[in-house]
Amino acid sequence: MFNSLSDRLTATFKNLRGKGRLTEADVDATVREIRRALLDADVAVPVVREFTGQVRERALGAEVSGALNPSQQIVKIVNEELVEILGGETRRIRMAKTGPTIIMLAGLQGAGKTTLAGKLAKWMKAQGHSPILVACDLQRPNAVTQLQVVGQRAGVPVFAPHPGATSELAHPAGDPVAVARSGVEEARQKLHDVVIVDTAGRLGVDADMMEQARQIRRAIVPNEVLFVIDSMIGQDAVNTATAFDEGVNFTGIVLSKLDGDARGGAALSVSSVTGKPVMFASTGESLDDFELFHPDRMASRILDMGDVLSLIEQAEKSWDKDEAARMAKKFADQEDFTLDDFLAQMQQIRKMGSMKKMLMMMPGAQNIRQQLEQFDEREIDRVEAIVRSMTPHERVAPKIINGSRRARIARGSGVHVSEVNGLLERFAQAQKMMKKMAQGGGMPGMPGMPG
Ligand code: GDP
Repeated sequence: MFNSLSDRLTATFKNLRGKGRLTEADVDATVREIRRALLDADVAVPVVREFTGQVRERALGAEVSGALNPSQQIVKIVNEELVEILGGETRRIRMAKTGPTIIMLAGLQGAGKTTLAGKLAKWMKAQGHSPILVACDLQRPNAVTQLQVVGQRAGVPVFAPHPGATSELAHPAGDPVAVARSGVEEARQKLHDVVIVDTAGRLGVDADMMEQARQIRRAIVPNEVLFVIDSMIGQDAVNTATAFDEGVNFTGIVLSKLDGDARGGAALSVSSVTGKPVMFASTGESLDDFELFHPDRMASRILDMGDVLSLIEQAEKSWDKDEAARMAKKFADQEDFTLDDFLAQMQQIRKMGSMKKMLMMMPGAQNIRQQLEQFDEREIDRVEAIVRSMTPHERVAPKIINGSRRARIARGSGVHVSEVNGLLERFAQAQKMMKKMAQGGGMPGMPGMPG
């Protein structure tokens, strides 16, 4: 889920790394990339417009602080805006003050309502509640049986208008409103504190279905009406959600099938369009594939943010200020970045603690995890050995390091020539990056990373 959106956004932020200051053009280019990524993920157009407008305004605005570099600032803003469109705070079920808490489920056929009923029942039971399921989907031939199976797996009783139902209460079979009412009555009598009412869906939004759902809502006055939506539904999400919101005025959203590799636009659109919070995520066919939805965690997952802020904190703590000042002066004086500087930076990095642990905290770490696993801190020792085998002149003017010099350096440091080549390549990249930073005056970077 969200993988490609996640990759796209992370790539966008990566483009900003090394920039000391963002111009309006940088912000616009970034916002354009974000817009494309969201549209490609099937996020609804009005939501994208609102989102990117917010990001742009904030990125250009006064709130940009000195504590974070530009790329981190944008990540922070995008993160906060994502949390916002996902509903803001984590929203929990509002329990009834007296009598049973009534939760009604609504949504299209196949959205995952029945499965969700079982998941929710099991989850609430695990929290010490005593739920009962009520089968009001009398449209689909085997919906009632399906709910009974789900109820059995969840270990909760099911009230259903069929032989084998748990109630003797009379009701006209085939009338879902009456079934709903009796189900709630049953819950009261048997002292269940939670009633979960499954209702019928249709393949598309349909006036009869909506009227039925409305009648059930009026009859049982639920504490929560959860709209279950299949996350893979794509651009239809907004219309469907709007229709259900107007039809039954739901109080919360459940995103189902979040385990699929859908583009995720539904998830990012429905809450924003309806103004209702996403409350749960359903992530598989097993009853345990279910979780309370936390907008902030979902946003960090999408941004693959890792723990950027603690990374920065750690970096600030251990960065040698004198060394940094020396570098800054070098930049200011437009002096060249040499291999000695390169080595000094590598040694700084070592001081910053476990490199692996630190790199793991960086955005995008998911993608390079495997490389990181293989990364060996002794790499720095090798770099040191190689640089020390160079003459002082070679260190400030690496351009003169030709083939025979490379062979000599390799011999001197006990490595293969290819490693000398690799180091020189990385140095060249680092040099370029430092030059860029010299122009922008950003935080000293971490050149020389493998990968
Ligand atoms: P309903 O018509 O809204 O009651 O939908 P169902 O609960 O019958 O679900 C429709 C299909 O989607 C079933 O095959 C479920 O097993 C499947 N399903 C439901 N929720 C999820 C989910 O979170 N992930 C996956 N992969 N499948 C799900």
